[in-house]
Amino acid sequence: MTDRTRIFRQKTKRAGACLTCFMFSFFLSSCVPKVPVSDKSAKVEFFSMNTINTIEVRGPEAEEAANAGRDEVYRLERLLSRTDPGSEIFMVNAAEGEWTEVSEETFNLIRTAIRYCGETDGAFDLTVAPVMDLWGFTGGEHRVPDDAEILSVLDRIGYEHVLLDEAKSSVKLEIPGMSLDLGAVAKGYAGDCVIKIIQQFDVKSALINLGGNVTVFGSKPDGNGFRVAIKDPEDPEVYLGVLELKDTNIVTSGGYERFFESDGKVYIHIMDPETARPAQSDLLSVSVIDPDGTRCDILSTALFVMGKEEAIRYWEEHRDLGLVMATTDGEVLVSENLKDSFEVTGGKSVTYFG
Ligand code: ADP
Ligand code: MG
Repeated sequence: MTDRTRIFRQKTKRAGACLTCFMFSFFLSSCVPKVPVSDKSAKVEFFSMNTINTIEVRGPEAEEAANAGRDEVYRLERLLSRTDPGSEIFMVNAAEGEWTEVSEETFNLIRTAIRYCGETDGAFDLTVAPVMDLWGFTGGEHRVPDDAEILSVLDRIGYEHVLLDEAKSSVKLEIPGMSLDLGAVAKGYAGDCVIKIIQQFDVKSALINLGGNVTVFGSKPDGNGFRVAIKDPEDPEVYLGVLELKDTNIVTSGGYERFFESDGKVYIHIMDPETARPAQSDLLSVSVIDPDGTRCDILSTALFVMGKEEAIRYWEEHRDLGLVMATTDGEVLVSENLKDSFEVTGGKSVTYFG
């Protein structure tokens, strides 16, 4: 192991999810006996979508809401998993060039994902599955493929070969060996769905953390937003900054979350669909803040692949997005629309753009 990879590994071990939430205090304070009904709170923690998730809710029906939120994540995992033989995505992937009818929900999510593939110029590509398999990220047996293997897998990548028939709610993968992977969007979409479910109950606020994808609903009892910290990808014990958020999502993608190393080189789990290799980004992490969780998840992955210059260009055409990016040069770049809510806490120099 080289020094660099050793440091990387040590730091990553401590990293865990890249977001830490500072907003638990009001839940703790409500643990004293005889709390008024309106201050009731509940927290569920569960494993789904390959990660640890927590849902915390405050309000008279906190417990029912938190449980229903958890069941919603389980439902979506069964629908969207690429490895569960009972899922609709599995069916589409197994259909070998035939049309597959899917639920309206799956159809709409695939259609949304394809729209973003185009909008991000293919930096996000929902057909990246064969690349994940090739590098061993699917089964966990990581390996570095040779150039011939990489060339051959490139023939099976391309969102433009995913065909949609809206009238029949059907999907077809045009090229043999193609496969869909919603790994960069499912948790973001799940956040959106869980919020909708939770709002069907009598609740005041909620905090949902699906493997680092954070969704906040409402505010703290004192009316202030939830304080959510973004970890420094180079030192998980340090925060780049803290954001005060209400009714929105924050989703972070970074190479330090999942990776393996071979011959002293680090290979990350975010792929560049153009090269079928791990993305060579000049960014260490990208956090996207937006009320649409699906959009956050897709764009955090896509902007990471694009790198600093292109990500800023993308933001210039989508100025409603909130962006916090840590670069390999040790800079922190924050979109100017977050100026009032971003509090610098780390030692890195922060530049606002826009
Ligand atoms: P995580 O889900 O680990 O928090 P991301 O949202 O960035 O992080 O998603 C990474 C996952 O998305 C990978 O594990 C893989 O399944 C898939 N993926 C990797 N690269 C891409 C890409 N360029 N476009 C679409 N999906 C990708
Ligand atoms: Mg993502």
